[in-house]
Amino acid sequence: MIEIIEEAPDAVTLRLRIVDSADFLPGQYYNVRMTVPGRTGPVQRAYSVASSPIPDSSIIDIGVREVPGGLISPQLVRGLSVGDQVQVRGPVGRFTWTKDDGGPVLLVGAGSGVVPLMSMIRYAVAADLDIPVRLVCSSSSFDSAFYHRDLANLAEQHSWLEVVHTLTRDLSDARATHHRRIDHRMVAEAVAGQLPRRAYICGPPAMVEEVQGWLGELAIDPAGVRVEKYD
Ligand SMILES: Cc1cc2nc3c(=O)[nH]c(=O)nc-3n(C[C@H](O)[C@H](O)[C@H](O)COP(=O)(O)OP(=O)(O)OC[C@H]3O[C@@H](n4cnc5c(N)ncnc54)[C@H](O)[C@@H]3O)c2cc1C
Repeated sequence: MIEIIEEAPDAVTLRLRIVDSADFLPGQYYNVRMTVPGRTGPVQRAYSVASSPIPDSSIIDIGVREVPGGLISPQLVRGLSVGDQVQVRGPVGRFTWTKDDGGPVLLVGAGSGVVPLMSMIRYAVAADLDIPVRLVCSSSSFDSAFYHRDLANLAEQHSWLEVVHTLTRDLSDARATHHRRIDHRMVAEAVAGQLPRRAYICGPPAMVEEVQGWLGELAIDPAGVRVEKYD
């Protein structure tokens, strides 16, 4: 581990230098294996990459939010120091986007589900693409939202990127566009005027399935929709 960045009181970015690994694609994840007291074998959990494979895919950022009472995430968020070795396997997953997939692109993420979407956005910046990308990001509060500062800076610098925040608990924060859970109306607004050719939905399974269903109702071609469920 080469760096630990605090994203929120309960969330960190862990920057790892990977030894002997294939290049990853934006949207993929690694399996992290750790020993846990009381368990005979190592315990494994999936964590998506938040960084871009360009310019150096051997350095990866994984974004982890602590799940209270969990076996692995509390150790990752609070139990590691720079210089520690972390065992990872990967990259894994078909929830990927590169320039060849084209756009416009709609990204919908809730909670830590924004992590792989951030990799796609950072890749688009690093590759100097000009493909329209619209991100709908749902968080409990603005300050708990992964990468909100980075996203604000990137949206200011790149006209192809539009970021829409919705908050589910902090209902008064004016930095967000919406103050409710992602719903049909929000998804309809997100596709209006910029019909996505590719849509990526990531987060809790119930949210992912609902948004996928609404995109179908809004006549978005299911062949262009990819989902990643964090269960
Ligand atoms: C493809 C994929 C990518 C992912 N990417 C990310 C990511 O980028 N960032 C991120 O933060 N997360 C990500 N996740 C989620 C992550 O893999 C873990 O599921 C999450 O961190 C919780 O793991 P944990 O070991 O801390 O909790 P677990 O030990 O799995 O526990 C989860 C919850 O269940 C409860 N629980 C566990 N055992 C019991 C029991 N016996 N009885 C009652 N309750 C119990 C715990 O108290 C806790 O609340 C991803 C998941 C998938 C599938």
